[in-house]
Amino acid sequence: LQPGGASYLEGLNPEQRQAVETTEGPVLVLAGAGTGKTRVLTTRIAHLIATGRARPFDILAVTFTNKAAREMKERIGHLVGPSAEGMPWLGTFHSIGAKILRRHAELVNLRSDFTILGMDDQLRLLKQVIAAENLDDKRWPARQLAGLLDDWKNRGLTPEQVPQGEAGAFGGGRGVKLYKAYQDRLATLNACDFGDLLLHCLRLWRENPDVLQNYQDRFRYMLVDEYQDTNVAQYLWLRLLAQARKNLCCVGDDDQSIYGWRGAEVDNILRFEHDFPGAVVVRLERNYRSTGHILAAASHIIAYNEGRLGKTLRTEDEPGEKLTVTGAWDSEEEARLVGEEIEALHAKGHKLSEMAVLVRTSAQMREIEDRFVQLGLPYRVVGGPRFYERAEIRDALAYLRCVAQPADDLAFERIINTPKRGLGDATLQILHNHARSARIPLMQAARLVTETEELKAKPRGALRDLMRGFERWHRMMEGTPHSEVARVVLEESGYTDMWQKERTADAQGRLENLKELVRSMEEFPDLGAFLEHVSLVMDANEGEGGDRASLMTLHAAKGLEFDTVFLPGWEEGLFPSQRSLDESGRAGLEEERRLAHVGLTRARKRLKLYFSSNRRIHGLWQATVPSRFIDELPEASVEVMEAPASFSHGMGGSRFDRVTPFGSSYATPGWQRAQAHQASVERGSFGGGRGNERGRPAQRGPLTIEGELVAKSTSS
Ligand code: ATP
Ligand code: MG
Repeated sequence: LQPGGASYLEGLNPEQRQAVETTEGPVLVLAGAGTGKTRVLTTRIAHLIATGRARPFDILAVTFTNKAAREMKERIGHLVGPSAEGMPWLGTFHSIGAKILRRHAELVNLRSDFTILGMDDQLRLLKQVIAAENLDDKRWPARQLAGLLDDWKNRGLTPEQVPQGEAGAFGGGRGVKLYKAYQDRLATLNACDFGDLLLHCLRLWRENPDVLQNYQDRFRYMLVDEYQDTNVAQYLWLRLLAQARKNLCCVGDDDQSIYGWRGAEVDNILRFEHDFPGAVVVRLERNYRSTGHILAAASHIIAYNEGRLGKTLRTEDEPGEKLTVTGAWDSEEEARLVGEEIEALHAKGHKLSEMAVLVRTSAQMREIEDRFVQLGLPYRVVGGPRFYERAEIRDALAYLRCVAQPADDLAFERIINTPKRGLGDATLQILHNHARSARIPLMQAARLVTETEELKAKPRGALRDLMRGFERWHRMMEGTPHSEVARVVLEESGYTDMWQKERTADAQGRLENLKELVRSMEEFPDLGAFLEHVSLVMDANEGEGGDRASLMTLHAAKGLEFDTVFLPGWEEGLFPSQRSLDESGRAGLEEERRLAHVGLTRARKRLKLYFSSNRRIHGLWQATVPSRFIDELPEASVEVMEAPASFSHGMGGSRFDRVTPFGSSYATPGWQRAQAHQASVERGSFGGGRGNERGRPAQRGPLTIEGELVAKSTSS
């Protein structure tokens, strides 16, 4: 690989090449989906290394997900080949923040083995903080406080920096006080939450200019992907680091800004040019990813947004297949249709790994997963803390944390009575008293208490067994593979048994998840590395390997691409989500529309949209109407699919009867009106769409007779 006429530069268009070769000074690449922004970043890294401008460890690259970081590492590996000088620092803001903090933990009053709290540990802690203030946590829920603190942290504000007048939002003016109490608790626990990973860095650098300078010297070149979704704290973090050398290259797309609800600020794009005067701004206009119809649909929909910086996107690809829109009777049928379509494509020779189902909310996943499982269709859920947020996974992780980090009080609290061992609140209270007065971790207190008469014989015995277990498992870590240790821990603690006894489909799924967890551990050198990974994971990619379809939320799909993309659940209230409309009005709607744009632009060749006329919302079946986003698609690029023949059979006529794009408050374009008319005829005779509030929506005769759907639904 030689500079000059380097092979890696071949195939780049002139603008991309400019973005790669302008190595010195600030560069902002502002361009639409699929124009090669990420490719520019990876090539730029390769270029810096190949031309000798930088060694790998001089480079810092920030991606939005861990998955993206992995992919970028791979791509760079291909481009520069094996390098003796290692890899650049490459990861999410959080993972890089954590890496830096572990090196200087003591400067922000932590120890280097600090724990990174997941969402539900955070909530438990906040509950304690709220209780300690004698506030009623029904009136002042922990979740709300979590949101408030998150908001402050995203804006880079420590308790001292929260503006006067903002504290009134919670607990009758006690927001800041609670924030402070929470931070104190975290410090005592040697723990921090996600927001702290950046906030502590900011503090570290402000209070220790020498440390900051060290990093400024070290990271001679910095690159940031998905820049439109950085929040203020991240922006401040970047600006501090880049201030000295100003070799900062950010790439982003304002039309794909989808984390406003988490404090991301598109304004950072505008700020960039202000804070880094003389920045070179590069625009890329050719989309290399998608066919003509897909790009037309994506461009058409986003044009309904008003708040845009404005960009052009064009493709030189063929128009390709039209998008399809299919209406289903209910979400279960929708899942079935998606599953069948995937199978059909697979049978024609398309790889499962080139198909993805993208949903608006993770709650939509279960039905689709269920369907996949029934079909025996291999899939992976990409995304999210979801997998790791599942109760059984959190429990298992708590056990492992207790084994690896015996001072982890939160973990111990979580599992001391899971499964039930008669070690309830009363016991815990006694342990807490000991721990507090002797200033020792709970587990140590537990050990001491078993030597006394304080507990009754039964709980004492149970506690002694548990503590002996932990000693045994801890010793086991030497010499036994850690996934094997995990298996034994879950077995011997009675945890797996607890679910096995339940004998429900749900429990079965949980056991599967636990197996999956143990399997996934094998990828890591040791338990510590695994736990570190888990606390950082934004995109769990469980069950790697083999040809699998992907299932994930739209948020998790950012930056990815697939030949075929399935987009179920395009209904008012679900997508756009009612919540974002209620809470943020027009701005909320525009963010939802950007999310739709992200979803559409993930596809290379095929886009398949679905909506269903009935869906269970908060446990109740409700009639729904198709999303306004369906109406915003360009007619010329869309084909409305008929309901599958087997289901229209005997239904009294129309085969469009499940396509019911009427009753919505917005205009129905001509191309849907024909079906709407048909559907309204159907509606009269069946009362379709008016769901039975409690049970399943009123089914039509033929469906009930066919039995399959109904039989399943009554058993679920
Ligand atoms: P997103 O906004 O969705 O993150 P992006 O702008 O980062 O998209 P990339 O993922 O970098 O776009 O590129 C999209 C696709 O186009 C990739 O498959 C990439 O390999 C391909 N591509 C980019 N540039 C070129 C090029 N000059 N020639 C051929 N293919 C290209
Ligand atoms: Mg990208």
